[in-house]
Amino acid sequence: MNYRYQRSIITFPARFFIIIPCRFWHCRVSFKNRMATEGHELSNVTVVDDLLSLQKKIAAIRMAGPSKLQVIADFDATLTKYMVNDRRGHSSHGLLRQGNPEYDAKRHALYEYYHPLEFSPTIPIQEKTKLMKEWWGKTHNLLIEGGLTCDAIRESVANSAIAFRDGVVELFQFLEERDIPVLIFSAGLADIIEEVLRQKVHRSFRNVKIVSNRMVFDDNGRLISFKGKLIHSLNKNEHALDMAAPVHEHLGDVDGVSDDSASVKKRTNVLLLGDHLGDLGMSDGLDYETRISVGFLNDNIENNLASYRKAFDVVYLNDAPMWGVVKLASQLCSTASA
Ligand SMILES: [Mg+2]
Repeated sequence: MNYRYQRSIITFPARFFIIIPCRFWHCRVSFKNRMATEGHELSNVTVVDDLLSLQKKIAAIRMAGPSKLQVIADFDATLTKYMVNDRRGHSSHGLLRQGNPEYDAKRHALYEYYHPLEFSPTIPIQEKTKLMKEWWGKTHNLLIEGGLTCDAIRESVANSAIAFRDGVVELFQFLEERDIPVLIFSAGLADIIEEVLRQKVHRSFRNVKIVSNRMVFDDNGRLISFKGKLIHSLNKNEHALDMAAPVHEHLGDVDGVSDDSASVKKRTNVLLLGDHLGDLGMSDGLDYETRISVGFLNDNIENNLASYRKAFDVVYLNDAPMWGVVKLASQLCSTASA
């Protein structure tokens, strides 16, 4: 056996393992690199109140396997950055310009009136819920009356200050490769969130579904109505699970396979991502076995940290990237022994 032959035997297996699973490998390497370079900074913005409890939850979810896991995420200021180019980033509602200044102004006037009411500490929740329904209903009517078009949505997103946190795409991809569904629950507008995904990510994920207010357009691309229940900020959790179930069933239909494990009710372990304490309610109605909650505390940290660290298993401060969640997801899916 000459030297050259020996060398080819030695190097072949290494090449085989690195090159063949290229997409997966590339993904893992890029996670590791990013985690290594950003790990130090990330540890400065991560708060875990009860590490032992978190470790137990991680172990329980890992034992049950990926087929039992689903991810439930809020959209605005959770998947998206709180600050974009040194100013407050747009929300999926806030970015919309319907190409009709009169109606943009009318919607802004509603915002000025109702937004303080939404956060008023003195209004009882029942009254507040009524007000939110009123606000969302009026806003939707203005969008219809003002002649919102698909083109205006595309243009609004193109001109908006909205951006995903670093690591969101990698998180979705990691979960997609393991057939783990991601449900995005939002009181915003599904059609806008989808357009943001199209323009900012440039690809779709078959495991990502949006549960939000959905528009109906006529043949000319003009908004004529909304379908389904109206979802506002205070009832989003109430309807989330009802609306998510058909989404999961639809996933099975698309593939032509009846995938029981895709059912929202059967995936009893949850990784929940939110930026408000109220987002914890997104898993209400699901009889989950283990839930790990991750909270993004983007501002007013001094006043809110005490309540966030008690409510969420992990808290990320200062508009942190998604890399910590990517690492957490990889721990949850790890097949290595605990
Ligand atoms: Mg939010």
